[in-house]
Amino acid sequence: MTENLQSCCLANWKMEMELDPAKDDLPLMANTRHMLVKHYVLDLDVDFKSQVIEGTIVLFFEPGSRCKKGGSAGEGACLSQSDETCKIRASEPCHSPVTNVSARSSKTGYNDFAVCAKGEKDTSDKNGNHSNGEQASGISSSKNCCDIENHGSEDFLLVLDCCDLSVLKVEEVDVAAVPGIEKFTRSAKLTDAEELRNLRNQIVHELVTLPADRWREQLYYYTRCSQAPGCGELLFSTGTWSLMIRKAEVQAPRDFPHAIRIWYKTKPEGRSVTWTTDQSSRPCVYTMGSPINNRALFPCQEPPVAMSTWQTTVRTASCFVVLMSGENSAEPAQLQEEREIKVQGGQVTCPRPCSWCLLSWYYYVTMPMPASTFTIAIGCWTEVKQESHTADVRTNNEFSSLFSRADLRLIEGSCGHVAYPCRFQNPAASSQLVIPHRVFAPWCLKDRCAEILLELIPQCLSAAHATLGTHPFSRLDVLIVPSNFSSLGMASPHIIFLSQSVLTGGSHLCGTRLCHEIAHAWFGLAIGARDWTEEWISEGFATYLEDVFWAVAQQQLPHDEAREQQELKALLRWRRLRDEVQNSEEELQVLRPNKENTGEVSESGTCIIKHGLNAEKIFMQVHYLKGYFLLQSLAKRIGEATYFEFLRKFVQKFHGQLILSQDFLYMLLEDIPEQKGYGLSVENIIRAWLDTSGIPKPLLEECQTWDQCRLVRQVNDEVTKWIQVNQRARKRSKRKRRQDEVAFQKLLPDQLVLLLESLLEEKTLCLRTLQCLEKTYHLDEQDSEVRHRWCELVVKHKYTTRYADIEKFLKEDQAMGVYLYGELMVNEDAKQQELAYKCFAATQKQMDVSSAKVVAEMLF
Ligand SMILES: [Zn+2]
Repeated sequence: MTENLQSCCLANWKMEMELDPAKDDLPLMANTRHMLVKHYVLDLDVDFKSQVIEGTIVLFFEPGSRCKKGGSAGEGACLSQSDETCKIRASEPCHSPVTNVSARSSKTGYNDFAVCAKGEKDTSDKNGNHSNGEQASGISSSKNCCDIENHGSEDFLLVLDCCDLSVLKVEEVDVAAVPGIEKFTRSAKLTDAEELRNLRNQIVHELVTLPADRWREQLYYYTRCSQAPGCGELLFSTGTWSLMIRKAEVQAPRDFPHAIRIWYKTKPEGRSVTWTTDQSSRPCVYTMGSPINNRALFPCQEPPVAMSTWQTTVRTASCFVVLMSGENSAEPAQLQEEREIKVQGGQVTCPRPCSWCLLSWYYYVTMPMPASTFTIAIGCWTEVKQESHTADVRTNNEFSSLFSRADLRLIEGSCGHVAYPCRFQNPAASSQLVIPHRVFAPWCLKDRCAEILLELIPQCLSAAHATLGTHPFSRLDVLIVPSNFSSLGMASPHIIFLSQSVLTGGSHLCGTRLCHEIAHAWFGLAIGARDWTEEWISEGFATYLEDVFWAVAQQQLPHDEAREQQELKALLRWRRLRDEVQNSEEELQVLRPNKENTGEVSESGTCIIKHGLNAEKIFMQVHYLKGYFLLQSLAKRIGEATYFEFLRKFVQKFHGQLILSQDFLYMLLEDIPEQKGYGLSVENIIRAWLDTSGIPKPLLEECQTWDQCRLVRQVNDEVTKWIQVNQRARKRSKRKRRQDEVAFQKLLPDQLVLLLESLLEEKTLCLRTLQCLEKTYHLDEQDSEVRHRWCELVVKHKYTTRYADIEKFLKEDQAMGVYLYGELMVNEDAKQQELAYKCFAATQKQMDVSSAKVVAEMLF
């Protein structure tokens, strides 16, 4: 801890210089301990022709925890109540952070804050190549403040996370110019410049700390302030990972402007958004959950501790639908656009086709969340609606029995987070089983969505409510994303992305995936990991809860059957974990790679996410799987009823906050003290599950039991039959086949996965067996998990007549196809390699960067 305290803001510079973008670790550069963003106002134009998003962002700040006078830790700085260190640090005196900048910049050839007189400030921007990566430094200043060695070295430096953005201008916003804003100021004396500056910061302070019930007024004034005129350009400079801003002669964060406006443009190649076409070949753009999050979309404070609200206005051509993390389901507004209108012979004609008319979309959130959770998707999506209202949305009564009285009492308790209009305090919101939701998809997938997805959503939402209670978010959009999306799903505030891969086969894969993403509303979003390396807090919980929700969502399923399905799932996950542990670097198998230093940041608030950019890690599931097994093993020890009651209490206590693993484990063991006698201790759990590579010891003891489950035994019987069929087919290949005599059992999708995986272990399967297998289970109509195993069998046994299945899979199920490429290459079979090259050539351009990188490594 002391090491961390001694490192100072210079770490920023050091980090920036030592970081190789090609390396694995991801830096979070923002100095959140000095300045903490509270709200973003984005105002953006999206142009599909140039694939550029351009506009302004206004950031509203409060001084960070290191800079608060009197060290009041309660004011938003400390998000986790158990964070003792944060409280201690919060009371430290505020230092002027940058000392000796010039020495460092000269040493490394950095040319920050180069002179650039007003009027020529755009030189680096004209070609749009004013790249962070090129370490160009733009500056906009009305004053010639070049002499950094003499004046600049003591100046406070605001560091924002930023990458692949062209920053055009940065300025202070004159919030005092907003009519009616006087009510936010206690004294209205405006005698000198310093007082005016203080006044502006005081206004921002009053605005960001307005009580939660005045959120409408707050949003209104955020809007007005964001439109206020500028009052002085600020000096800025960009590095590979950051945007650094300073104001001449301002040395303390509290004197630094608390409202700043940044003019910027994204770059087509920026890695926060993907410009592509949807399945109906129409253009679209979306945030694809890249490891660098949103910093190539807008300059921001990436560290999760910078929880903020936001509001966004997006203008784009009227054929597009703009979906976003916003609590309002926005209706677009037609813009009164100034455009050239030609008057010819008295006739007014618009020079543009109607599809060029612009629409404006406005979204906002009132719940503070990390900027990384912000999501946007713009495309020609179609809203999918129910033909007739026959869907049975279940009534409150059906599920009320799952709640104990304790849960109802909890609702009355107050929340632990910073003040915002919280649904947990609102009885009407708390009893809402199904939140309002919409489904969007490309035109060509509309019918499949209507058929499979539409009615699952209310079922899964109410199942989630039955398990955990209050939905943390007030509404939900579900979008079927383009085929190059690299995973099966992604959850963000108010919006879930699903891959088209969940729309094949029956409802099983779609339902379980939907449950997984819905679970993230609680674990991952409402309760976030304070340290991003603790991914298991989000993924382990969602994987565990996906089974629980799905069992409830399948209404008629008897308890025993639900349990059996979960045991089968456990076995499949166990096999997956075993394989992954055998085939990956040990270091990547640890759930808490930073061990006891987890959650620590430098004095200024920066940190480095270990392996954050590792392409291999992105495809690993160890955090999902080990996290899941840990939670499952705790449930078994404690008993499900007690466990779920605890989970609801935990959610009640920690929603709206960031946590570390310990927060969960300590509360669990305190809540259930008698369990301590069973050898459960936080230290033991951390040692066995979180801090070590490989398979956790307790799990090794448990894994035998799943083999005995009925659904697994059933599969084993079928495998035996197939092996016999195969042997007979090989022996009497020339005689008349009598396979028809074998009666095969009907199998569930997960059973089919296990069956095919087991058959993959067979050395030889003859052509006839494969044909029969395909016919018996209609494999080409199964969900993508089953078809994936089928494709593996086709590759392994060089079943050339079904190579079309592989081709289709690699094009339509890109989220799952990556490893299939490896298998096509490994046999060193010319035809298979040709197939791999062909499919990669067809999809490469669209493929997301990490997937393309991994596949290219396999192929070339
Ligand atoms: Zn709350």
